[in-house]
Amino acid sequence: VVIRVRKAGVCATDLEVIRGYYGYQGVMGHEFVGVAETGRYQGQRVAGEINLSCGECAFCLKGMPTHCPTRTVLGIVDHDGAFADYLTLPEANLHLLPETLGDDQAVFVEPVAAAFQTLECIHISPHDRVVLLGDGRLGLLTAQVVSLTGCDLTVVGKHERKLSLAEDWGIDAQFVDDIQANSADIVIDCTGNPGGFADALEWVRPRGSILLKSTYHGLPEADLTRVVVDEITVIGSRCGPFPAAIKALAQGTIKVGSMIDAHYNLDDGVAALEHAATPGTLKIILDVV
Ligand SMILES: [Zn+2]
Ligand SMILES: [Zn+2]
Repeated sequence: VVIRVRKAGVCATDLEVIRGYYGYQGVMGHEFVGVAETGRYQGQRVAGEINLSCGECAFCLKGMPTHCPTRTVLGIVDHDGAFADYLTLPEANLHLLPETLGDDQAVFVEPVAAAFQTLECIHISPHDRVVLLGDGRLGLLTAQVVSLTGCDLTVVGKHERKLSLAEDWGIDAQFVDDIQANSADIVIDCTGNPGGFADALEWVRPRGSILLKSTYHGLPEADLTRVVVDEITVIGSRCGPFPAAIKALAQGTIKVGSMIDAHYNLDDGVAALEHAATPGTLKIILDVV
């Protein structure tokens, strides 16, 4: 399906693409809202899942298309992305957007879906003590999703402004130094840097779980003996369910308005990416139409 892009979001992965970590050449961008120009959604606003899978391999047939070994990925692996007037995606990847969901909010569907994947990968009970490490884009979205479980959640970060956003949403927020060792049932690492895993290992209790949410370049230096001796479960989590994200954003359950730092025209894309790479920046949106 040909899609006319209306808006696109810049995310940490885009900044990694620029640094060459994925060896990608092509049009960047994977978070977008657009209007389908062909197919059964013609003329309607859509968001799109970013993995283009073969549909025929063992993983696709098992219902795991995001793990298809020959998949391409919008704006990341061998498929031109959303920082453009038009993009293409298979119809099966598209999700219609309700009128109650504004374009700015809709740009967040893909990262909010990734945040919801947390709940697919680990059961979080209202009795659990959860520490979420990282107050960046993905951390703040994941914190909002996790807080829906009613658990005892603390977001841990380094930036006063970002932590105060979490507090505005009713989520407890603290600086990194204030967390006690062995105190959390579950630690979720959204830092995007290798040091996060070592911190998570320090804070999780014996037989607790660590959920790794963000990718990073480089290898963590961490005491894996602690994983064995204290019987700690380590889980990875990536792309997630779009319908849940669309519903939560349309209902206003997940709030993103205060995370938008600036809008740029597509013509000013280079400046937009430079702004996104500035420390402390949350979401930068490219206005394409
Ligand atoms: Zn992203
Ligand atoms: Zn496949």
